[in-house]
Amino acid sequence: MRKKRGSEDTSRSGQGTVSPGTPSFAILQFFLIGAGRMEISVAYYHSFLHPDVVKRDFDEIRSAGAGSIVYAIHEQEEQRWPRDLERGLGQAQDAGLKVHLSFGRYGNLFAGPSFVPSWYTFRHPQSRVIDRHGRHHEISCFNQQSFRDWLFREIERYLSRYPINGVLLDEPRSLDVTCFCSVCRALCPDVTDLERFRRRSMIDFLGELCACVKRIDAHIKTTVVVLPQDIAQIQDLAQLPDLDTIGCHLFWNLLNEQVTIVERWGRNVVEMAHLHEKRSQLWLQNFNLDESSEKDLEAAFSQMLHVEADGLGCYYYWRNNANPTRVWETTRGLLRRIPRRQLHWQVMVSDRQGAKQAL
Ligand SMILES: [Zn+2]
Repeated sequence: MRKKRGSEDTSRSGQGTVSPGTPSFAILQFFLIGAGRMEISVAYYHSFLHPDVVKRDFDEIRSAGAGSIVYAIHEQEEQRWPRDLERGLGQAQDAGLKVHLSFGRYGNLFAGPSFVPSWYTFRHPQSRVIDRHGRHHEISCFNQQSFRDWLFREIERYLSRYPINGVLLDEPRSLDVTCFCSVCRALCPDVTDLERFRRRSMIDFLGELCACVKRIDAHIKTTVVVLPQDIAQIQDLAQLPDLDTIGCHLFWNLLNEQVTIVERWGRNVVEMAHLHEKRSQLWLQNFNLDESSEKDLEAAFSQMLHVEADGLGCYYYWRNNANPTRVWETTRGLLRRIPRRQLHWQVMVSDRQGAKQAL
């Protein structure tokens, strides 16, 4: 199987040299310095089955200024078309796009583009969360070792087999129900502390997951994206040493808020991420828009730019827009407003001993 990741941050700087022939010689160096280094990620939730269509899409995404795609895989999918997956992810890299893989609905713990139940949870009903009344919930308890082992094995398998540059954990959920399963009860015998234990253990679980990714390859980037109602979790997430980026889905329309809230949400995320030296990533809701809400796209985007996140995410022709083509065209136009990286040339002088001095 093909596996290509590309070197780290090669797009940020380059270097050219001139052969020494005189006591001192010039070294031409150029730096790609962004006025803003905002990285654009585009979620690509489309089929890989038609390579020509995929190529056209990736070229379009790249020319819109994106540096990476987010692709989501569901448990049921890869076994049916591993060749398409390998080819599609490789095509993204060939187009100059890094690939961040999202584990859609694994254990029903994460969000995902398809509204499907987790195959693992279905086949392992004993792994489900149990509430205080003894009722089962359709979500696997992350404190159960067998679930963790399976998930970490799956991640390892994907990262070793396919060309992947990053892992994105999409809206990890679990705090809506406090789990009273035998494992949680054994780990936290004080029943009154179970709710807090759940919160702590989820952060611990996400930390272990990121550590698992870094053990496989330290260059692979890790991202957790939360919903605005979970912004408070960022404080805890930011403590995780193996987590690189903290993102937030600023879905004002889906969450029935005025578009003006985007800036407040965004600022919170960026400030908290930076306080703990993590990268921040803000997501634009360019989906599920009707003719009227589509007009808010520009305001949402301007607010996101204003808070100066490290990264910005949006979707390529994603679901339920009244006018899909216009929404993408609008998005593309907005992305053009992000300052592009610029070439800066610097002439260096070096003597035979190799000491260098900038002119
Ligand atoms: Zn449990």
